[in-house]
Amino acid sequence: MFSSVRPVPLLLALCFVVGTLDRGVASAQAVMEGGLVTSRVARSAPRAAASSRRPSRRTPAAPRKPYLPKPGVAPPFFSGRPAIKTYRSNAEGELKLAQAAIDRMLAVKGPRTMQNTVLVYNEAMTHGENVAYQSHLLEAVHPDSAFRADCEKISQTSNKFLDDLSLNRGVFDALKSVDVSNADSATQYFMMRTLRDFRRAGVDKDEPTRKEIAGIYEDLVKTGQDFDRNIRTDSRKIEIMPDDLAGLPDDFVKGHPAGSDGKVTLSIETPDYGPVIRYAQKTGVREKLMHESMNRGYPANMAVLDSLLSKRFRVARILGYDTWADYITEDKMIGTAKAASDFITRLNDTTMRRAQQEYAVYLKRKQEDDPTSTQVNRWEISYYGRLIRKRDFDFDPQEVRPYFAFESVKQGLLDVTSKMYGITYKKIANAPVWDPSVDAYEVYDGVKLIGRFYFDLHPRPGKYNHAAKFTVRQGSKGLQLPEHALVCNFSGGKPGDPGLMEHTEVQTFFHEFGHLLHAIFGGQGQWEPIAGTATERDFVEAPSQMFEEWVWDPNVLRTFAKHYQTGEPIPAEMVRKMRRADAFGRALQVATQAFYSAVSLNLYNKPPIQVSSDAVVAELEPKYTPVPPMPDSHMQTSFGHLDGYSAYYYTYMWSLVISKDMFSAFDKADLLNPAIATRYRDIVLAPGGTRPAREMVHDFLGRDYDFRQFDAWLAGKD
Ligand SMILES: [Zn+2]
Repeated sequence: MFSSVRPVPLLLALCFVVGTLDRGVASAQAVMEGGLVTSRVARSAPRAAASSRRPSRRTPAAPRKPYLPKPGVAPPFFSGRPAIKTYRSNAEGELKLAQAAIDRMLAVKGPRTMQNTVLVYNEAMTHGENVAYQSHLLEAVHPDSAFRADCEKISQTSNKFLDDLSLNRGVFDALKSVDVSNADSATQYFMMRTLRDFRRAGVDKDEPTRKEIAGIYEDLVKTGQDFDRNIRTDSRKIEIMPDDLAGLPDDFVKGHPAGSDGKVTLSIETPDYGPVIRYAQKTGVREKLMHESMNRGYPANMAVLDSLLSKRFRVARILGYDTWADYITEDKMIGTAKAASDFITRLNDTTMRRAQQEYAVYLKRKQEDDPTSTQVNRWEISYYGRLIRKRDFDFDPQEVRPYFAFESVKQGLLDVTSKMYGITYKKIANAPVWDPSVDAYEVYDGVKLIGRFYFDLHPRPGKYNHAAKFTVRQGSKGLQLPEHALVCNFSGGKPGDPGLMEHTEVQTFFHEFGHLLHAIFGGQGQWEPIAGTATERDFVEAPSQMFEEWVWDPNVLRTFAKHYQTGEPIPAEMVRKMRRADAFGRALQVATQAFYSAVSLNLYNKPPIQVSSDAVVAELEPKYTPVPPMPDSHMQTSFGHLDGYSAYYYTYMWSLVISKDMFSAFDKADLLNPAIATRYRDIVLAPGGTRPAREMVHDFLGRDYDFRQFDAWLAGKD
């Protein structure tokens, strides 16, 4: 919580990244192919494009009946759709409440107790973090660009408040002097984490040093925002001739008519990039678009990245660590930079040979088109991957789309999770949310209201352009219910459009909803700072990655994947083919992930004076993947996770290993089995961050987790 440098994007939004990679899908391909990785953490859409746009808020046709929450329950956070001025003053008001709680806590005379110190500290954190979470969400989703810009400032203020708090010696001393030896284990763990994080922030350094650290933190928030903004706003385009669209689906071609100059414009954003990279027959078109994509943020972010590296290094040295990587891995499951390096090496050892074998299949297929070719380039992997899957595995992702109409997938997801966990969802009519297209829901466990969430699921100009779970409020017993938002960009949402989703979109939906349920189930305890998904950062993806498995199960799919015209459930044979095709190319994808992990670690595990980011990428790429590098490109300038995740991008693969093992405890014949799901909820999800992840997983599995399931998956077991 008190991560020394408050890593805003990753702390506040959990993104979908791994698990699908090269399933022939734009968003997944982005990871595989490097160029678009960053946009996963881009927190809002390009400001340049948004700034000239007026808010798109519709006025409701008829007066709405206001939403009346249950007595004693705080209303949803966005009640009343405030104008920016009101919103800002509310945010300032809530920060004042946080400060007042701190003042009250520090003013205590006499013995310090849970009541007069720890609970008051929890209250301060709740208010402070509410402001940070909510401004972070709204800077990514609010329809008004001026509102979003203001929220960036509120983000800075609230992060500064929290960072300053993490260096407040008086608060630290007060907390330290409370005797918690008789408290429950969650409270003891909370106190251990809190005091540890205070120390990790540098609270026990002298005043000038703390001032220096605080100054660097403040700078780092802005540098991180620069890094992300440079990615978001560098939305490049290329121009091609209409003939160059050969191979692309009809609806894509129709949606891209030539302009008055006879040329067609393509953007590097996912809706264009994904289809082009998979379908365009002309390799030059793919190359050109990918080249632009892989230079996104260049050259501006070269210097910004150097600045991130040197500021973080400085913090690490002040705090007594050799490098930032040593510092940032210490509170993760993995524990040390050395262990992270060993893990990445293990991934490399397991995958490289298999990745080379897969690469040979790609090359052989390419040689059917061009017998003289000796290599498969990055911009050819998705294209040939699709062709190979279609011919050799008899699977075309387009064929399953009619079974995944958006509304039935959404209902299916709600029904599946209802059945598994015995909970119910109630849509809140007329909830006053930030955009009319957003839906709000309540979650009930029996008759008990246990949380709320928002679905903001379709694209809108100026909106965050990937998929993530955003926190609105972390739950804290007696103070507030957990409230979270899913922000995605799925098909559908337009009148008359059935919104036929790609399977990978369905997978993303389940993944993000997995984060949301984790946050709600884990948000029932006392301590806001460690509620919900506030577990170790290298564990937090595991539950969501595991929940992706549900969309590969024929029995689960049969419950909602019905043809949008005939109502026929998806044929089991089609699911079987989809799974088989999915297994192809897996090692190459994991190899690419290992490469990204290595880049992330190796930029941060030495003094920045020794680091040239271009040289690090150039050195590592051939070690990790058989696919030749894209000439004249700089993937690191659009690798947004280098800000949010800094050195620990390995976490996606680390948690994938755990997710594969946790999944082995479920009944494959009945994934909706409530008994197992409930046990999993109780042991792994509900504790939130009140126990070490390793212990929870051990208790759930009845043993320590291991690599066996992951290795089997990698070997192509479908
Ligand atoms: Zn995720």
